Amino acid sequence: MSESNRLRIAIQKSGRLSKESMKLLRSCGVKFNINEQRLIAHSDNLPIDLLRVRDDDIPGLVMDGVVDLGIIGENVLEEEQIERERLDKPSRCIKLRNLDFGACRLSLAVPNEFNYEDASSLEGLRIATSYPNLLRRYMQKKGITYTDCMLKGSVEVAPRAGLADGICDLVSTGATLEANGLYETEVIYSSTACIIQSTQTQEPSKQALINKILSRINGVVRAKE
Ligand code: ATP
Ligand code: ZN
Repeated sequence: MSESNRLRIAIQKSGRLSKESMKLLRSCGVKFNINEQRLIAHSDNLPIDLLRVRDDDIPGLVMDGVVDLGIIGENVLEEEQIERERLDKPSRCIKLRNLDFGACRLSLAVPNEFNYEDASSLEGLRIATSYPNLLRRYMQKKGITYTDCMLKGSVEVAPRAGLADGICDLVSTGATLEANGLYETEVIYSSTACIIQSTQTQEPSKQALINKILSRINGVVRAKE
């Protein structure tokens, strides 16, 4: 792959972080137009290319140095970091700062009729999740054995469908849990969006641009507080 001297930033293509990620970059003075069909959007006024991808791909793209910066939920970042540790692969990225959007929590939840006392009530049961690493870390800390049921979507319907006894899923208001006859029992991880940088970005001109963007982000986020 040829080395580009344009700064590459990965953002979520479409989902809960997309609008806010684009708004943040625009409020930092990065001008760009999105063509829905295109993976890459070139900035008109700065040497920056935006890569619009699935959020799950962002930590890996940053860690492997394919892009310089990424905007991602800490939950997805942490999940990937644990996975890389497990595989003995280096996780070459640093978190520059947390952002003021994308707040959510990764929680355990069980059906309303489940008699839950504490996490040990889940001993030996099956738990559906898209975050097997974060769940394992929590359950190991508590000394609880369980089986997981890995689902990338529709986690909240797993108990009713008879696929699992409980779930470990992202929650913001709790409305989705309620609509599926579930209640939240433990928060295992609290998250917001954050901006991360690849430690493989070394060119001084790119670093200078990152510093400029970061100082603008600091100003924008502080102004809203
Ligand atoms: P993609 O198609 O990019 O893989 P996705 O379906 O995995 O999208 P979204 O549901 O758009 O992802 O969520 C993206 C991120 O938004 C989450 O990883 C999390 O950090 C944050 N988030 C904030 N609130 C919630 C919520 N209530 N449910 C899920 N994610 C939330
Ligand atoms: Zn995703």
